[in-house]
Amino acid sequence: MPFKQDVYNRSVYREPAPIDHAADPFQAMMERFDVAAEILELNPGFYEYLCRPAHVHTVSIPVVMDTGHIRVFEGYRVIHNNVLGPSKGGIRYAPDVSVSEVKALAAWMTWKCAVVDVPFGGAKGGVICNPRDMSPGELERLTRRYTANLLDVFGPDRDIPAPDMNTNDQIMAWILDTYSMHARRTENAVVTGKPVGLGGSRGRTEATGRGVMTVTLAALDRVGLDAADCTVAVQGFGNVGSIAAKLLAEQGCSIVAVSDVTGGYYNADGLDIPAMIEYVKTHDGTLDGYEAAEPLTNEELLTLDVDVLVPAAKEDQVTEEIARDVQAKIIAEGANGPTTPAADTVLNEKGVIVIPDILANAGGVTVSYFEWVQDRQGYFWTLDRVNERLDRIMTRAFDGVFETAETHDVSLRIGAYVMSIRKVAEALRIRGIYA
Ligand code: GLU
Repeated sequence: MPFKQDVYNRSVYREPAPIDHAADPFQAMMERFDVAAEILELNPGFYEYLCRPAHVHTVSIPVVMDTGHIRVFEGYRVIHNNVLGPSKGGIRYAPDVSVSEVKALAAWMTWKCAVVDVPFGGAKGGVICNPRDMSPGELERLTRRYTANLLDVFGPDRDIPAPDMNTNDQIMAWILDTYSMHARRTENAVVTGKPVGLGGSRGRTEATGRGVMTVTLAALDRVGLDAADCTVAVQGFGNVGSIAAKLLAEQGCSIVAVSDVTGGYYNADGLDIPAMIEYVKTHDGTLDGYEAAEPLTNEELLTLDVDVLVPAAKEDQVTEEIARDVQAKIIAEGANGPTTPAADTVLNEKGVIVIPDILANAGGVTVSYFEWVQDRQGYFWTLDRVNERLDRIMTRAFDGVFETAETHDVSLRIGAYVMSIRKVAEALRIRGIYA
């Protein structure tokens, strides 16, 4: 098989063709990928294969706005890789979504699924829009048309969307319905993170925050800290940040600071997280005007003297400058890509334990996998069963990453990349390259 030999043989190595990554999120992913690839002595052909997305779909989405005018939005769905199974990943709606960001997020999904050992590849979607300025009707029409444009891409055995930033179970329900109308049957396994009444999984909404809690406790255990003695700051009070804060508080941690788009909220004696979650529900989705706390800037929150910092907002929050002032002993990345590569270097030198995004926030996709399994079996689990299995998978993944990092004497982030790239590369080696 001369073709296979050529592909797999190091002697044919050449530099990968340049990818357009001038200071973009995909480049941040690649910087870590390169370190792990070197440790793994990754076959150069595999390197080239794994570092670029399999498919990048760009769609124009015309929407009749409430005014009667037509607005055309731009949307993306990037399939990074499907070597391990159908591709999986959320869809985000935000004004600053870019194709480069979606490419990075899709690749992170590939590594994330491999870290927790669920049989999915990685994908991500995004639509450039500001959902805060849109009515429910406009959002529904946008979602349905985005889905219709990607009907040939989505499917329970192909590519399975889920919620991400600014998308939720209602949006998933519209995707399910649109897809099912075209399929002429109800196909609930086409999307995860949908309402329980439509085949969603119990515990899915809380799963990402719960996973953050589980790996944080595992890390505290490794460094000999007791949750009851720990202080925590959480950046972001959406689905991930608020649940992580609530569950860590239930474990005895004192949550002294949280933030959302309206700013930071600090209380040295510990914030009442359940009360804040209630407040958000009745105040247009934000903490604006919440009084039982002192104001705090974003930078102050990130550099607070706490034991644990949970960045659960968005990318590139812990920069090199911020990292120099970080006082936390442990950072648990609830968000995807919150720490820049330059900040990683500073944090490593300071001995801060960073539980990387592809491990820390993998609870969401893990329960998405449970949801997909339940839909396909038509048999639904109790919340206890979901949580118990989630905890087991997150703990096992944490231990695997920790041991891989120790073996190679690298950070947990690089350990997680090594573990996941090894897994995907091995599957690729066994499958071979189709010609
Ligand atoms: N959007 C979530 C993530 O970034 C969940 C993805 C999924 O469940 O497919 O992990």
